[in-house]
Amino acid sequence: MQSPPQPSAATVVILATGGTIAGTAASADDHVGYTAARLGVQQLLAAVPGLAGQAIEAEQIAQVDSKDMSFDLWRQLVQRVEQHLARPEVAGVVVTHGTDTMEETAYLLQRVLAPAKPVILTGAMRPASAREADGPQNLADAVRVAREPGARGVGVVFAGTVFGALDVRKTHRQRVDGFGAGDAGPIGRLDGASLQRARDWPGGTALGTALLDRPWPRVEIVASHAGATGALVDALVAQGVDGIVAAGTGNGSLHHALEAALRTAQAAGVAIRRSSRVPDGLLLPTGHDELPASGAPTPAQARIELMLELMALRR
Ligand code: ASP
Repeated sequence: MQSPPQPSAATVVILATGGTIAGTAASADDHVGYTAARLGVQQLLAAVPGLAGQAIEAEQIAQVDSKDMSFDLWRQLVQRVEQHLARPEVAGVVVTHGTDTMEETAYLLQRVLAPAKPVILTGAMRPASAREADGPQNLADAVRVAREPGARGVGVVFAGTVFGALDVRKTHRQRVDGFGAGDAGPIGRLDGASLQRARDWPGGTALGTALLDRPWPRVEIVASHAGATGALVDALVAQGVDGIVAAGTGNGSLHHALEAALRTAQAAGVAIRRSSRVPDGLLLPTGHDELPASGAPTPAQARIELMLELMALRR
């Protein structure tokens, strides 16, 4: 349990994990054919002259393309963030991360730690070698928000906008402002040096890091679509899957064949949650829902929520 930052807390700890922000390509015009996770955290810092002289500690936690994020790395990252937050001199933590699974890591950090200090994830849509790389500004903004008085909880800072971990999702495949928070909207926007806040920081009860030492359940995502069948669900059940998130259509609706297989799986003891392929909006009850809806915004975040729920049941 951390206490809120002391007024004297000045240090921001940057934990680097790789991603496009640390990626390089052969040409400064290449935004696509680059290799992620090449530059170390000191090189990322050197690209932001405004951070020189600030009380910053930097640590390389990993060097991965975040599409390859693993449970082991998640556990290691969450524990390291918690250790730094417990230090009174630390105002907040910044995590540099690939954009592909940033919404998942942010969600996990918030649900497990619900920190009283800010933990800010950021990254880049263009590699560090790009002529107009977005990473340096995002990193400067993330450090700025990690020092924001009153900031708490896990956020994502991208293209001058701050999103809460429980609402954030990647919304564009190429644009530098490639993140959003759906109907919830952003926590705020950076206007020069000041943060114009629109809503509250994320809250909730911390589930605690001890949970992550338990075996991680196998939870898979299966999408509903035209012509869907129950074949994938049946195969997963035969393999002993613990949970399935069904990425439904629209308001979480499911093809009848897929739904029938999911109901059979549920009867066999597999935990089922409905989510939606459509990124924005809520899952509203219809009065004839056969399977429970997830409250998490995306299927990938619904999967984390269900994994944590199942881990809490494991002793
Ligand atoms: N594949 C990269 C990653 O997630 C994409 C990015 O960082 O934008 O690490």
